[in-house]
Amino acid sequence: MGNFLIKNCELADFETLTTKKMQILVRENRIEKIDAQIDTPAGFEVIDAKGMLAMPSFADCHSHLSQTFMKGPLDDYPITDWLVRLFRIKAVISPEENYYSCLLGALSALRCGTTVINEMADWPLLDSMLEALKDSRIRATVGISTTDIAENDATPVITIDEALKRSQAVCQKVRGIPGRRLRPSVAPAGLPACSREMMQNLKRFADERGLIFHTHLAEGRKETEDVRRKYGLDGEAEALYEFGLLDPHTLLAHSIWLSDHELDLIKETGAHPVHCPSTNLKISDGIPRIAEMLERGIDITLGCDGEASSSNRDMIREARLAAYLQKGRSLDPTVLDAGTMYRMMTAGGMQALGYEKMGEIREGNIADFILVDMDHEIGFFNPDYKLGNFLYAADGRAVDTVFLDGEILLRGGRFTFIDEEEVLSRAEKAVHSLNKKIRKVLEES
Ligand SMILES: [Zn+2]
Repeated sequence: MGNFLIKNCELADFETLTTKKMQILVRENRIEKIDAQIDTPAGFEVIDAKGMLAMPSFADCHSHLSQTFMKGPLDDYPITDWLVRLFRIKAVISPEENYYSCLLGALSALRCGTTVINEMADWPLLDSMLEALKDSRIRATVGISTTDIAENDATPVITIDEALKRSQAVCQKVRGIPGRRLRPSVAPAGLPACSREMMQNLKRFADERGLIFHTHLAEGRKETEDVRRKYGLDGEAEALYEFGLLDPHTLLAHSIWLSDHELDLIKETGAHPVHCPSTNLKISDGIPRIAEMLERGIDITLGCDGEASSSNRDMIREARLAAYLQKGRSLDPTVLDAGTMYRMMTAGGMQALGYEKMGEIREGNIADFILVDMDHEIGFFNPDYKLGNFLYAADGRAVDTVFLDGEILLRGGRFTFIDEEEVLSRAEKAVHSLNKKIRKVLEES
């Protein structure tokens, strides 16, 4: 982290969707002052951000970074086949391959303006993932996916005791990493792959330690029907409500197959659905009722999910898809307007994950924010409507500079702390070695 005075940037206002020319003073890891004119204090580096949009960085609220190298081989499979093959590929990935898969995923996220990831990891791959997260310098909340009911013959099933032991180990490992950028969470895979007892034991574990409870909810129609039959309730959300698992510390990835009553229960408890539109469409899960959630005042967040299903780490692309889907579905263009979308990606996600003083560029807040340069594009961007243009007409590659905890990690679209060519060359070797194994797995499946 350093001391910076950012001059001439256009500060985004998500309420009015306008920008205002401002200067931002960053001292160590905090935004100390925002004003039209600030004198440069001695020892501060001046950054001329003329024409650049300043806005808070993004929170990606549902992620599986190990899948970055699985982008491609699982394209266009039906969900049940996709899941079996995914587990088989995960069983053959080496720690080194996983390290580069996670590192490239985290760097791709940073490149597109994301500084916080809510990660659901896999136990055998945890150490290499944590190493990659540390080296990427991104912030992440990390839990491991656990199941105790086999959905297919490739699902790794464990006991509740083992799930608790592993969650304890995650806490120790994550907290043992220097710096404050990684946090532990608890992340059961979700119904119907988890028993009521496993979910409740893990929720108790999370509550006793003040951790986020991160799970999948109502992603598949068939799975939702199975839960409905098993418990005699509307579906997975009502089951989690009856089990006492819904509250403001619970994040619910996907949240697609929900009744009106279940939407009311989510609103009542303050739990946060995480919308992952690319995955929902690409593997034909269905389209969640985001417009109805917004009507009820539910605090929704956004996630890029794993690239084996979404093929995407760019929150702007994800947000545009989310907005278009709901506008088209509801026949109402005012639904998921740009301001709502931006708040969901920034302050909404940070708050859901429990990050304080983040998600807004304001004095006293932690210096996590981005500068967006849309002038380099050949396509026309209207200088008076940059916020709408960034969301609807550009993508995350327009991000020029990323500040995280007052440290510049990206500048001029290039990483400041790694040799990109070197990392890419090593990653390429790793992905070739994994691809050989993936071909074998797919041939045998
Ligand atoms: Zn997921």
